[in-house]
Amino acid sequence: MLADVSKNVFLHVSRNQLLNKAAKKWGLRFGASQVVAGTSIESAMRKVRELNEKGLVCTLDHLGEFVSSRTEAIEATEYNIQTLEAIAEKGLNSNLSVKMTQLGLDIDKDFCLDNMRQILEVANKHNNFVRIDMEDHAHCQITLDILSELRKTYDNVGTVIQAYLHRAEQDINDLQGISLRLVKGAYQESPEVAYQEKAKIDDNYMQIIKDHMLSGSYTAIATHDHHIIDKVKAFAKENHISRDQFEFQMLYGFRTELQQRLVQEGYKMRVYIPFGVDWFGYFMRRLAERPQNIAFAFKGFFFK
Ligand SMILES: Cc1cc2nc3c(=O)[nH]c(=O)nc-3n(C[C@H](O)[C@H](O)[C@H](O)COP(=O)(O)OP(=O)(O)OC[C@H]3O[C@@H](n4cnc5c(N)ncnc54)[C@H](O)[C@@H]3O)c2cc1C
Repeated sequence: MLADVSKNVFLHVSRNQLLNKAAKKWGLRFGASQVVAGTSIESAMRKVRELNEKGLVCTLDHLGEFVSSRTEAIEATEYNIQTLEAIAEKGLNSNLSVKMTQLGLDIDKDFCLDNMRQILEVANKHNNFVRIDMEDHAHCQITLDILSELRKTYDNVGTVIQAYLHRAEQDINDLQGISLRLVKGAYQESPEVAYQEKAKIDDNYMQIIKDHMLSGSYTAIATHDHHIIDKVKAFAKENHISRDQFEFQMLYGFRTELQQRLVQEGYKMRVYIPFGVDWFGYFMRRLAERPQNIAFAFKGFFFK
């Protein structure tokens, strides 16, 4: 009960425009530096190098979402391009994750598409890949429409499917052959569109993982849940699915020992590294997910 209340409070706060704006000026606070790799491209590159040296691959997320001005969206596009250039220049092993609302989706779909094309051109030049993060349900269909438009020209782009959505299984069917990251889902959604019970979400999660893996499509299993990870390992083994057909993904700062163990066992392990000044919404969603993470916040508050 208390966990539900705190979850809703953090999810609510994560969308507060004033707090998000103020946090850009504060710099990383409340322990956010444990899960956000600094505010600059340089600090993100240092983290990627550190992790690459330990055998982990990465995906970089220049934080920012729900952008409402064209100037901000263009700046974000340029920043993402600079990030891809920096990865290539430094010879690091990382791809890029982007949110469509950061590129201006809420302003105009074609403007957003155009920004994404510029990013994909640079990724193509460097033989790199870009994953479109999935945001709240209100943006789901339009994000899939954008993906489908982009896939007509680019094959170095994929997206994310959220197991809590009722539509997930149908989407998996429609997106065969495309590299997908599969997650449980991080936003607050209504019972009309999303399962609410953990057991139901977990069941659907395993179902869509199996469907996508069996279809022969590249599958990124993004979870910190060791029960799911163990089931995926067993499923891949039973069905002779080779280890270059899938990877595990976890967020920077979470379950680092488990990340390292998976590398030692010979699995591909990708760390999602968020960075940038727009850290507040991301950090609040992580607090909402797991009450234990709140310990970070209090430690950070008192021992900044
Ligand atoms: C790389 C990555 C990318 C993501 N991208 C998106 C996206 O684009 N869109 C989106 O909506 N969501 C995204 N998410 C978030 C995702 O949807 C979930 O909200 C989030 O991962 C929490 O669910 P979980 O599967 O990790 O495990 P949970 O369901 O939170 O936890 C299940 C169990 O796992 C164990 N566990 C979990 N976390 C920990 C921990 N820190 N330490 C110890 N044990 C733990 C516990 O036993 C827990 O009971 C992403 C997640 C990852 C890892």
